[in-house]
Formats: sequence, C-alpha cells, structure tokens
Amino acid sequence: MSIKDKLLHLKESLPSGVSLLAVSKFHPAEAILEAYEAGQRRFGESRPQELKEKYAALPKDIEWVMIGHLQTNKIKYIAPFVSLIESLDSERLAVAVNEQALKCGRTIDCLVEVHVTQEQTKSGWAWEELVEFASNGGFRKLQNLRIRGVMGMTTLTDDEAVIRADFERIRACKAELAKYFDESFDTLSMGMSDDYHIALEYDTTEVRIGSTIFGSRTI
Ligand SMILES: *Cc1c(COP(=O)(O)O)cnc(C)c1O
Repeated sequence: MSIKDKLLHLKESLPSGVSLLAVSKFHPAEAILEAYEAGQRRFGESRPQELKEKYAALPKDIEWVMIGHLQTNKIKYIAPFVSLIESLDSERLAVAVNEQALKCGRTIDCLVEVHVTQEQTKSGWAWEELVEFASNGGFRKLQNLRIRGVMGMTTLTDDEAVIRADFERIRACKAELAKYFDESFDTLSMGMSDDYHIALEYDTTEVRIGSTIFGSRTI
C-alpha cells in the first residue's frame, strides 16, 4: 500500500473526535509530502533540528508537533513555529519553553508528558513533582504556555493487560490534573501503531502513529 492508501485506511478506522498525528520522525520530506497531498496536516517529530529543517522545506500550513525529549538548549530551534509540544516533562523545561515563547511573542500549546510505566528509560514528568507544581500555581505563572492536556506512553510489552493498565493510568492523570486548568485542557494523547486500537477504548483524543503510515524506521 502507498503512504496515501495507508493514511486514508487508518483515518477511516478512527472515530470522529480522535485526531491523527502522523509521526514522521526519521522519514524524508518526500514521504511527508505524500501524506500532505493525501490531506494530512499534523506531523510529529522527535528531534528539534530535524523538525526545523523539515519546517523550512515543506508547506507552511503544516502543523508541527514536538513529541520527543526536549533539551532546554534546543527549544530555540522550534519555538518560533511549533504548533504543540507534547513532551513537557519537567518544571525546568516548562520555564525554559515559556521564556522562549515570550521571546517569540507567542503562546505555545503544550501537553504534560506523564510517566506511568515501570521502565526507567521512558521519559515523563514524575507524578508527585507535577502535582506539586500544578497545585502551587506553577503553570499559571507561565503565561506564554497553554497546557492543553496530557501525553503518555505505554510499557513496551505484548501483554495487553499491562498496556490497558497504562492507558487507564494516563487517563486518570488527565482527570486528576484537569482541576488546575480551564476547559482548554482537553487533549489526551495516547496510542501508537501497535496499541492505538486499544487506546480508543480509553477516551484518547489523539493517536500518534508512525510506522503504520510510513513503514518501519531504521532507528
Ligand atoms: C515514535 C513515536 C510514536 C510513533 O510510534 P509508531 O510505533 O511508529 O507508531 C509515537 N509517540 C512517540 C512519543 C514516539 O516517539
């Protein structure tokens, strides 16, 4: 199947109200353009420099979304144009993104990335620290950020019970945090190629899908 056919097929399988983030990391601009020509406008990338280069090379009505771990010294590459940062995972990063947004005269939409798996390697904001920051009004002070919701990843496993428990926890994190934000806190980003069909049962509002659309990555 072509990228176009895979994309259209995938879109048909998503209920209305669930948005599709096409994860194009490590795939070339031509592949993105093929998805663009099939109507896709939201693309996710995991490296700031790669994101910046693709932004420069591709149509300007693409909404670029940062989904990978973000170092504070790299925020400047994406702050002028990024549409959403899903990987906000520490107070330090939140403060730094706010600073760069202010410099660009923008308000940047962000999701807080929560850590729900047992794996040490998976990124995400430590839950106690996140709640403390939110409940102390930490986000309200960052006036150039708009926190739109929560992003989470599941454990790398074939055990569906573990994956379901992770989705349940991510959903609960969003419900728990909602009281600190206004009604624009409406996004629950969870589900990737292998598990998005399960995420649909847990109220996900956005699935992030790479390999099902673009094929497997070498990295
Ligand atoms: C790579 C990546 C995805 C997409 O993964 P696929 O398995 O290729 O669908 C989704 N979310 C994040 C945070 C990623 O890094």
